[in-house]
Amino acid sequence: MSSIDWGQCRIDPVSSLLKFHTTASVLRLDLLHPVISGNKWFKLQNYLKEALASGKTTLLSFGGAFSNHIVATAAAAKQAGLKSIGIIRGEQGSFPSHTLEAARSYGMFIYFSDRADYRSKKLPPAVLKEHDPLAIYTIGEGGYGLPGAHGAEAILQQGDTSIYTHILAAVGTGTTLAGLIRASSSAQAVTGISVLKNNRSLTAEINELLPENRQDGFALLHDFHFGGYARYNEELIRFMNQWYESTGIPSDFVYTAKLFYAASHLSAQGYFPPQSKLLLIHSGGLQGNLTLPKGKLIF
Ligand SMILES: *Cc1c(COP(=O)(O)O)cnc(C)c1O
Repeated sequence: MSSIDWGQCRIDPVSSLLKFHTTASVLRLDLLHPVISGNKWFKLQNYLKEALASGKTTLLSFGGAFSNHIVATAAAAKQAGLKSIGIIRGEQGSFPSHTLEAARSYGMFIYFSDRADYRSKKLPPAVLKEHDPLAIYTIGEGGYGLPGAHGAEAILQQGDTSIYTHILAAVGTGTTLAGLIRASSSAQAVTGISVLKNNRSLTAEINELLPENRQDGFALLHDFHFGGYARYNEELIRFMNQWYESTGIPSDFVYTAKLFYAASHLSAQGYFPPQSKLLLIHSGGLQGNLTLPKGKLIF
């Protein structure tokens, strides 16, 4: 039985509340759980199945100290009755991050790995001493991979999404976007907003997860990263507060705020044809806002 309380996704219309020139709605994966990021949960489902089917008892993955993927891996393992190990990039800070505390609360064993070892994905010796290496199922950094993309296909089954002409989502590794492309009809335009600066290998990495007839059949926008991964400025913070005031929908500064900002700016500029119906994927990640200075956000 589930030991984690799950909420319900829904689709909220937002266009009447904002200066959108088109119809726009938000698919609220953030309502699934306050800490376990919506898209990460979908991405993990097939990795979990593979781990269980191959008799592994421990999930292991890699991430930074603020990684939504790490918390979601911890929660998914706990729910499936598996152990979990998180290999965290860099030195242990003097304060544990909220993210790592949440992961520990789901029973995750946390190990820190210096940048060189992390880059080569070498496991800290303590991991091999304290856990049975043969029982470990490893999930790549950020959950990138075909099982992850297949898991993300289910995102478009969380409501009647067939009526939308455009589907937009924030992109890190691109695994979620690949799932959305796979699950969309060929009449739907899928657009990804990259939250990394100049991640030019992204198109190839997404194509890798697509059947041939869907390759290159999507758009990636690289102009809305606000300086790079987890960077922000006052304009983004102001936008997050305005967006919340007009829609009641909270966003996170790493991913979904950049998506909503891009969508509303593009819409105001007439980027989408007038009859378009946009579906913006709220991929969760709200726990990341805990790292912002207090008082910046009104939610
Ligand atoms: C990780 C994450 C993404 C990006 O997902 P990818 O599949 O890596 O592209 C988007 N939104 C949120 C909230 C995330 O945590």
